[in-house]
Amino acid sequence: MKIQLLPSSFDGNGLASPEQRLTCFLINDSVAIDAGSLAIGITPEQRNSVRDILVTHPHMDHIASLPIFIDDLFSSLETPVRIHATEAVIAALERDVFNWTVYPRFSELHNEFGPVMEYIQVELNSEFRVGDLRVTAIPVNHIVPTVGLIISDGKTNIAFSSDTAETEEFWKAVNAREKIDVLIIETSFPNSMTELAVASRHLTPESMRRELGKFKHKADILSVHLKPSYRELLVEEIEGLGIEGLKVMVPGVVYEW
Ligand SMILES: [Zn+2]
Ligand SMILES: [Zn+2]
Repeated sequence: MKIQLLPSSFDGNGLASPEQRLTCFLINDSVAIDAGSLAIGITPEQRNSVRDILVTHPHMDHIASLPIFIDDLFSSLETPVRIHATEAVIAALERDVFNWTVYPRFSELHNEFGPVMEYIQVELNSEFRVGDLRVTAIPVNHIVPTVGLIISDGKTNIAFSSDTAETEEFWKAVNAREKIDVLIIETSFPNSMTELAVASRHLTPESMRRELGKFKHKADILSVHLKPSYRELLVEEIEGLGIEGLKVMVPGVVYEW
């Protein structure tokens, strides 16, 4: 399984920089997990191969370029872009984004081939297919309805926390699996900002360490969603935990298992 955190920041030479402002992962160049940087960080080839997007929650950093991605493809789409999300997330996207004010309601629009976007409603805690992948969505503890994901291609199993504070149900579902090869976990704020992390339902390196105490598998662990303004300090604190297999995920790099 190939997984890439799409870049959302670029240096003076136009090259991907390590700051992660938006969230979007590409799996096997065909399925997107969230769509923060989807229209920005993607290659032309990937733009032509991604037709399934899983949206974990409607916060702007996770959906910022979703409308632009569909807009870019509008006239050429021969099959609709499929948005996989829970009922609550679909309702938020329709009400707050694709509402004819912020952006056109693509779910009601067609090009010469047919509809350009369709929603596929996801049920919590029950496995569904997205392309060649099998996915389970588990509620996590964030300030809007949000799901963590367990994703499998039949060989490799990935668990993604999405945005969350301390949580239980996600770890129960993850631990019930025979194996998890990769855990992608958020670590948003440095330890000194614990109060803000708690209020906004995110993790710090210290609370992430406590969460990892609930994780039973031996896996590669990638830390993501580091607030760009505190990136250096966060990297120091995360590395300082001395947890085996734990690394900070680098945007743009293709990871393979
Ligand atoms: Zn969020
Ligand atoms: Zn976020």
